[in-house]
Amino acid sequence: MMADTRGVTENFTYTANPARVVFGVGTRAAVADEVRRLGAGRVLLLSSRPLTGDAAAVPGVLGSLLVAQFDGAAMHTPVEVTEQALRVLHEHRADCLVAVGGGSVTGLAKALAVRTDLPQIILPTTYAGSEVTPVLGETADGRKVTRSAPEILPETVVYDVDLTLDLPVEISVCSAVNALAHAVEALYAPDANPIVDQLALDAVARIGRALPRLAADPRDVAVRTDLLRAAWLAGTCLGAVGMGLHHKLCHVLGGTLGLPHAQTHTVVLPHAMAYNASAVPETMERIAAALDGDSAAAAVYDLIVRSGGPTSLRQLGMSDNDIPRVVEQATAMPYPNPRAVTAEGIEQLLRAAWSGTRPSGTVRDGASPAAPDLTWLTDQVVASFSETPNPRLRHLLSDLVRHAHHYVSANDVTQQEWQYAIDFLTRTGQKCDDKRQEFVLLSDTLGISSAVDVLTNSRTPDTTASAVLGPFYVPGPPEREQGSDISGGLPGTPLWVDVRVTDVGGDPVADAMVDVWQANQDGFYDLQLPDLDGPVLRARFRTDGQGRLRFWTILPSAYPIPVDGPVGEMIEATGRHPWRAPHLHFLIAEPGFRQLITQLFVAGGPYLSSEDTAAGRGDTVFGVKSELVVEFPVAEGVPPEGKTLENGWRRLDFTFHITEL
Ligand code: NAD
Repeated sequence: MMADTRGVTENFTYTANPARVVFGVGTRAAVADEVRRLGAGRVLLLSSRPLTGDAAAVPGVLGSLLVAQFDGAAMHTPVEVTEQALRVLHEHRADCLVAVGGGSVTGLAKALAVRTDLPQIILPTTYAGSEVTPVLGETADGRKVTRSAPEILPETVVYDVDLTLDLPVEISVCSAVNALAHAVEALYAPDANPIVDQLALDAVARIGRALPRLAADPRDVAVRTDLLRAAWLAGTCLGAVGMGLHHKLCHVLGGTLGLPHAQTHTVVLPHAMAYNASAVPETMERIAAALDGDSAAAAVYDLIVRSGGPTSLRQLGMSDNDIPRVVEQATAMPYPNPRAVTAEGIEQLLRAAWSGTRPSGTVRDGASPAAPDLTWLTDQVVASFSETPNPRLRHLLSDLVRHAHHYVSANDVTQQEWQYAIDFLTRTGQKCDDKRQEFVLLSDTLGISSAVDVLTNSRTPDTTASAVLGPFYVPGPPEREQGSDISGGLPGTPLWVDVRVTDVGGDPVADAMVDVWQANQDGFYDLQLPDLDGPVLRARFRTDGQGRLRFWTILPSAYPIPVDGPVGEMIEATGRHPWRAPHLHFLIAEPGFRQLITQLFVAGGPYLSSEDTAAGRGDTVFGVKSELVVEFPVAEGVPPEGKTLENGWRRLDFTFHITEL
């Protein structure tokens, strides 16, 4: 039975592989002591190339303990290389093997140890994890044969984070995904157990959080520490439980076609996971949760893409003519795997891995584990724009098509779903008229308006922050005198607005045109109130010689966006609320200056916090910026402009800074 080990209560067996581990930064300094600890005194130092960087210090640390070096280790442990190294070993009467390098060097140490029974000390420089397994794969006459025995297990592992700092990012990404593969397959192994389970999930989470940060600073010690710890944990899993389809496929691809080890793991893993997903849904959910994704296979694929790793076997130089041969070998002998391994299924898996399509989040059992390759179609459509005279238009259309094709492919969008989307957009258009703009509302509620606003307007830090225009702006509102009241007598808390417009140096901008508009006490704009006569709570003013602008209005309230159209359906279907935080709109225009469209939000009002948006309590159009949340304090003293007020009133004082073009 394939185990899904969450909350396992039954008995289990866990075999720990007895190795001594020294982990940390600078731990290579301990290697001589570790040799002596094993009772040895004549070291053969192994590597796959001349040692450089921090690794170059190891011979110095070994001092007189070092009797010979061999730097010819090669991928997949060819026996002829082992025989060459064996001659060096005998010639110098070595009594201990110290290996500095990736899985290839560890493989050579193991191959020598199994032939001579000498103790091994491994200093890993990749994340292959071989150093903590009793497994050895050797290649002879083009065939890779794997065996497992206690004497293959290295006695001591010295993990020194420094030795991984120079591992190139491309190799690091693939090597880390190689480790991820050990952890993933350990989670659904037939002999999975709670101990391995914990190690594996910890490894998955560490890789998930570290990999995306690697490229920014490949020498980040914290990131490298996470990856090396994950490699150790994942390697321990590999050494403790049996692996499934993924490892079998990589073994065949590497052994038969000579494909590079870690890169092959990187390409195949998301597809092997998609293949197995329907058989171990709970395990996949836990992996997805550890990676902060919805579908485990897609989350791994996305992690690889984000980290710049390879996604197709084609990229690794494999020909699709080789697929049948690999299928034959991979299905020749039965082996444990959560989902039955069929030739047809493996062929589909390999074709998806060969072309590099993103595994769909929803894998249906018995159906293709991955969507068909659409690259040819996308290429044709993009090519159809190649003669577009306007280069910006050509680029925007081509990229739109690429993203849209990727979207339908990645989500396996059905014809029914696409028809629904078309109907939805049609109804969105039909809901628009000269007073209502449902498309703007859709753009706002999807956060696209705010995204475009930030991209367009947030590059000049000295300027007042902008905010979205919203669907209720009407160009050319009536011009009003300074000091007038724009509330049209509507009920509400009277508000005196006294604002200034200056350039970024603080000099007043006179005669600037300022459009203002807002909702009433009940949260409606005049456009939404058919019984109202004329524009109310909207007006145009000109700043005076000091750049000042004063007028009476009422305190704005929170309001729901209109929910009687398609956008309302979306809000309802997703369980979101339709509320906007209370605000006043401003559009400030002056020749020679960049136009500023913004909103001032009432401090202390509801739906303000952007952190709350994630919890469904923030502004429904994602329009609040903290620097635009301002006090509208209760005012004292005589109201301006001879206004007589029975109850209290509030005021708004603010200075807008606009940028010269
Ligand atoms: P690798 O050891 O061949 O190293 C990959 C490349 O990275 C090489 O070119 C190497 O020179 C370079 N490199 C390594 N460390 C470096 C560093 N710090 N700085 C710069 N370059 C560095 O590849 P690998 O993926 O680590 O190991 C693959 C081999 O290990 C395969 O033969 C595989 O079968 C075996 N393996 C065995 C087990 C097991 O348990 N038996 C587990 C995993 C891998």
